[in-house]
Amino acid sequence: MATAEQPMPEKMSTQTEKPPALIRLENVTKVYRMGTVEVHALRGVSFEVQEGEWVAIMGPSGSGKSTLMNIIGCLDQPTSGHYWLAGVDVGTLNDDQLAEIRNKRIGFVFQQFNLLPRATALHNVELPLIYSGDTRNRRERAIAALEAVGLGDRLHHRPNELSGGQQQRVAIARALVNDPDIILADEPTGNLDTKTGAEIMDLFRRLHEERRITIVFVTHDPEIGRQIPRHIWLRDGLIVADDRQPVETMEPLSKERPSP
Ligand code: ADP
Ligand code: MG
Repeated sequence: MATAEQPMPEKMSTQTEKPPALIRLENVTKVYRMGTVEVHALRGVSFEVQEGEWVAIMGPSGSGKSTLMNIIGCLDQPTSGHYWLAGVDVGTLNDDQLAEIRNKRIGFVFQQFNLLPRATALHNVELPLIYSGDTRNRRERAIAALEAVGLGDRLHHRPNELSGGQQQRVAIARALVNDPDIILADEPTGNLDTKTGAEIMDLFRRLHEERRITIVFVTHDPEIGRQIPRHIWLRDGLIVADDRQPVETMEPLSKERPSP
């Protein structure tokens, strides 16, 4: 219950800075060196994502979407620039700290599902808990994650006994089981037919609306992009638009403007 002794909300807000963005990139570049050839996959990318946002990373093939996701997911480091995750400069972390962030704060979902083929749905979902040494209620938590994606009746099926959409649900349960802050999904509907893709989008929408999970979601499909509230458009390693408009074409509607 509120009491007169508690600080006034107005006073709090004038005294404290706004909380740091969950994701903040500043002038991030990525150069791949292959022998004597350099590929400039990202050429100075800056943006913020607040907690609870659902953002689409859009743009043509080769524009740097996956490179950007690898950096946000702490799977790869920028060549230059900075990345802060929940206010922490990721560039200052060692390999163990990066692995811990990946394991505890981030859930990954990929186009190809990336499930262990010989393991049951339940075992696939338990794996992140096994890797993080988190044995407490392991089975119960994995079952709860599978129930949350509508697969409570498929616990003991192996991937080849499941449809594509069901396999992607297992992958989403695996991404959720550690209760991450962020889900990173790289073309998660890219291998699915339209109807199944729509079901997977419904699931992401629920995670966004009901659990307020922050989602960064790569797609080059405008049908998918139009269901996502915010779009960051990449072209040739640069942000060419960052908008909340309906997606009507493959290209951003707004004229090109520098990244914020
Ligand atoms: P997208 O996901 O938008 O298709 P990528 O991030 O995969 O784009 O690739 C951006 C550019 O970087 C492309 O030119 C691609 O060929 C290049 N690239 C991506 N990964 C590597 C790598 N590991 N080594 C060398 N070049 C790469
Ligand atoms: Mg890609």
